[in-house]
Amino acid sequence: MPALSGDIVIETSDKSIPLLVNPASGTLAPAAPARLNLFDLDREGLERFFAETLGEKRFRAHQLMKWMYHQHVTDFSLMTDVGKALRTKLEDNCEIRPPNVVLDKGSTDGTHKWLLGMDTSNSIEAVFIPDKGRGTLCVSSQVGCGLNCQFCSTATQGFNRNLSTAEIIGQVWTASRHLGNQTHKHRKLTNVVMMGMGEPLLNFDNVVRAMSLMRDDNGFGLANKRVTLSTAGLVPMIDKLSEVSDVSLAVSLHAPDDDLRTELVPLNKKYPIAELLDACVRYALRKPRISITFEYTMMKGVNDKPEHARALARLMRKFDAQVQREDAAKVNLIPFNPFTGTRFERSEESDIRAFQKILLDQKVLTMVRRTRGDDIDAACGQLKGQVMDRTRRQSDFKRKLEQQGINDAA
Ligand code: SF4
Repeated sequence: MPALSGDIVIETSDKSIPLLVNPASGTLAPAAPARLNLFDLDREGLERFFAETLGEKRFRAHQLMKWMYHQHVTDFSLMTDVGKALRTKLEDNCEIRPPNVVLDKGSTDGTHKWLLGMDTSNSIEAVFIPDKGRGTLCVSSQVGCGLNCQFCSTATQGFNRNLSTAEIIGQVWTASRHLGNQTHKHRKLTNVVMMGMGEPLLNFDNVVRAMSLMRDDNGFGLANKRVTLSTAGLVPMIDKLSEVSDVSLAVSLHAPDDDLRTELVPLNKKYPIAELLDACVRYALRKPRISITFEYTMMKGVNDKPEHARALARLMRKFDAQVQREDAAKVNLIPFNPFTGTRFERSEESDIRAFQKILLDQKVLTMVRRTRGDDIDAACGQLKGQVMDRTRRQSDFKRKLEQQGINDAA
């Protein structure tokens, strides 16, 4: 429905919703086809909505956020410190709608996975990984992914669409409620990593808005360094991110030279390693307290040889020197998690340890990520959900598997 003349149009993640309340007269405009999902607005957006659309004081937005994010309440009638008139206005015009939980599965190691329905034909996955004193939620930013990294299960499914802010923060909300997480009191969810399905920097505005809710005191109240965005290396967007957000950065490197990286991460053709590392240097210089992690998935015989480790160490030392900080670069070695139809295998444990030792000997802070959630297909790189592919990649992948005599894929 087109906006009425004089209406304020509220920009949501993927559509514009015409104003429902005229702030000057306080009268209601004709009903819009969809209600505004308040999960789509960050603090600033919600304040504006309250002041300019509902004609209410801005602090009312903070009250509402506490109900939504601290108490996990979605029913306006239960918000006892919100006046009846405002509750009625909210009920008439808005909703607080989390994603639909299609499947909810726990692993023997404490990892928990949610399959969340995003619409009638698409679903995505979010995974919670508890570890000594911390609990990390891995969140998706898109339905599928268009970047085609060769070792990634999500890539085989193709791409459908970006997730809205509501669909991104809804993953955190769902996990937080399930865990009985209490913001500022009894935290079970201490970290969020944007490392699930999708390339977050290709869904920039919605991701930035959702990450602001993760860090807002009236939202989930996480420290900047505890929210991490992982990118395959979209150089201009890394610079843009540094202008608007203070989150930690993780970069999917996976190879120490351009030939190999282009083979594994095709985006490297557009933004080669030197340009990518320059962008990371700029990010690190602008955010001196924020860490940058370089992710390196270990694949047997592909990128796990001593010469790869030595080349990677040289890149990391150069990065440290440019940032003028020892240990500015951290390397995260991720044992590859196989999925049906992949041509890659996980590196031998001994090769991973030898690789780590070469880096540590060169004074590069290097960790090996423990594989978690294997039994529920929730390990790193295994997230799938259900994607109505718009790129035909899934059918290409299925055809390739059939040619190899593998039928039960994707
Ligand atoms: S690794 Fe990340 S960026 Fe690459 S295809 Fe998979 S989801 Fe997309």
